[in-house]
Amino acid sequence: MLYPPDRLYPPDRLYPPDRLDRTREAVAAAGLDALLLTPGSDLRYLTGYHAHALERLTCLVLPARGEATLIVPRLERPAAEASPAPGTGVTIVDHADGDDPYPLVRKALGGPARAVGLADRMWAAQVLALRDALPEARQRLAGEVLAPLRARKTPAEVAALREAGAAIDAVHAGMGRWLRAGRTEAEVGADIARAIRDAGHETVGFVIVASGPNGASPHHATSDRVIAAGDPVVVDIGGTMPSGYCSDSTRTYVVGTPPPDFAAYYEVLRAAQRAAVAAVRPGVTASSVDAAARSPIAGAGYGEAFLHRTGHGIGLDGHEEPYIVAGNALPLEPGMAFSVEPGIYLAGRHGARIEDIVVCVDGGVERLNTLSTELVEL
Ligand code: ZN
Ligand code: ZN
Ligand code: ZN
Repeated sequence: MLYPPDRLYPPDRLYPPDRLDRTREAVAAAGLDALLLTPGSDLRYLTGYHAHALERLTCLVLPARGEATLIVPRLERPAAEASPAPGTGVTIVDHADGDDPYPLVRKALGGPARAVGLADRMWAAQVLALRDALPEARQRLAGEVLAPLRARKTPAEVAALREAGAAIDAVHAGMGRWLRAGRTEAEVGADIARAIRDAGHETVGFVIVASGPNGASPHHATSDRVIAAGDPVVVDIGGTMPSGYCSDSTRTYVVGTPPPDFAAYYEVLRAAQRAAVAAVRPGVTASSVDAAARSPIAGAGYGEAFLHRTGHGIGLDGHEEPYIVAGNALPLEPGMAFSVEPGIYLAGRHGARIEDIVVCVDGGVERLNTLSTELVEL
């Protein structure tokens, strides 16, 4: 299913008919002759087709000038036809199992190509096969063209992200039912995964339940550690909605009464996260939002303990542009959606992170995760 039955996101809104034309213009402006997109978010962004990545070639050929062709294995044709792809103006061409599909790519290009943009996450096997099939074409990354387009969400995309944000907020709001002393992180994590699906996600992306000293490892998943009274617990969770758009939100909880040193730096973190969200508006740079989160943390003496960037863009991928990181001079624009997720990690003791997805809007910012960031004692 590509959109909910109530047609909250009909294909013509999530995949507007002018998207291919606008992309063609960007392809030409970048000096590329075509984009070649195998299954993944770039393909889904342009056509709505959520294709499976398999050894058999599925590839959208989008020439800068000319018709778009979606090459699919014959057994995938019904799925491709049932997707929003035909409505976006692509022609579907199939290949029989066992046939060499690469001559179809050359044919769909409609002429010699000097430079092609390949999906950033294309399999190496296909990259090399395309190099053999199109020896005259220089291979570049489709992301040069697509990342900036995908970074500026349409109102329908923001609505899909808002829905994802509300769904993951509902899971955090129920945390008291699962997160208790005496249970392992893995047990709590299994309950959370079920709740992520129950809240409307199609797939569970990740579940981090990092208790006590595990909280000092930003990408800890879950373990057999038994959660004890007084443990701070970092819970970072997300998934993908039927729309294709992702959720991602972190709250830090305490089971019982927090250790005194934890309570002190949690308030520093909370003020930093709030300051960074408040810094978001059109025209400010991504790096200045990172700095807004970093300076209060550094000022309180925890600068070394905030060991990652402040945030990442989010959309059809859980991590995409824009990256909220020092050195990124990209000015924010309305429609850009990204996380604001500073953390403080004290090795061997505990850690904390607070993460909201926000959208840059005219005149400021909209938070898509709207729960309080106050420390929740369970
Ligand atoms: Zn992360
Ligand atoms: Zn996260
Ligand atoms: Zn994140």
